[in-house]
Amino acid sequence: MSAPVAIPLGINLGFCTKRWVTPELWAPLVRERLGLDLVQFSLDLVDPMWPDAVVERHAAVIRRQAAAHGIAIHSAFIGLAHYTFNQLLHPDPAVRDYAENWLVRAYRFAAAAGITRVGGPLGAVAARADGSEADALDEADYEELVGRMLRLAEQARGLGLSELYVEPTPLRREWPWTIPQARRMMADLGGSAVPWRLCVDWGHGTFRPLYPEPEAEMERWLVELADVITAVHIQQTDFALDRHWDFTVPGAVDPVAAAALLRRSGVAPSPVFLEVFYPFEHDSASILKALEDSMNTLRRAFG
Ligand code: FE
Ligand code: MN
Repeated sequence: MSAPVAIPLGINLGFCTKRWVTPELWAPLVRERLGLDLVQFSLDLVDPMWPDAVVERHAAVIRRQAAAHGIAIHSAFIGLAHYTFNQLLHPDPAVRDYAENWLVRAYRFAAAAGITRVGGPLGAVAARADGSEADALDEADYEELVGRMLRLAEQARGLGLSELYVEPTPLRREWPWTIPQARRMMADLGGSAVPWRLCVDWGHGTFRPLYPEPEAEMERWLVELADVITAVHIQQTDFALDRHWDFTVPGAVDPVAAAALLRRSGVAPSPVFLEVFYPFEHDSASILKALEDSMNTLRRAFG
């Protein structure tokens, strides 16, 4: 019997928000306390709209500290601060332009920090006054979005980046939230200057209000889109909301079954990042303990 395909395991630095905000703080704890050599940077730690000189200084320190601690930074993801705005699908085209420029600046930061991939959710359309939600994005909005993504890929190529990501979220007002939508978007981006790929999140594909059979739905996302998924977010969750719990919290995600599914679908050689968020008022010491335990659980399961 041949050895099972290795699943590179890392952590998204979203948990560091407001706490371990510089690489002098996060790099040693990721390496020594959590035993990891792979991270996904969070743009909740560096705002690409900071003045150029500040962004460049932070990028240089991140590059240096990651190397000094033997940590590879796979990618930089948008984080929660910028996600809060409606980004590339805001009703005001001037805000969409701002969001496009935000991403170009994020690419510039990433390139300076030695990070070659950038991604996250794309944006959200506004809710309707009566609270009803359309099943589909307006076709003109979709075309404009794809146009922006193609432009962004040109910028990314110019800066030497290798890959851009869309993270599908479980919201009808964001895009894409179904497998056929994701497939269509990937096809429409076929001629992109650098490849656009998917980062799927275990708490998104399993959100029961949108997907009545959560376990089967996660399997479908991974199996049907295996050729365009090159990164995964894992979290503990209950399928009732997108919880982003760590694995010390009881929930519906079985890490052993998750590892088996990643291997069965063929996604397994792609890295998997634990992505957890804590209330700001939660104390930092107990977070580190919970993360340590969670990483041990995942390492055991992923073999
Ligand atoms: Fe995620
Ligand atoms: Mn999420």
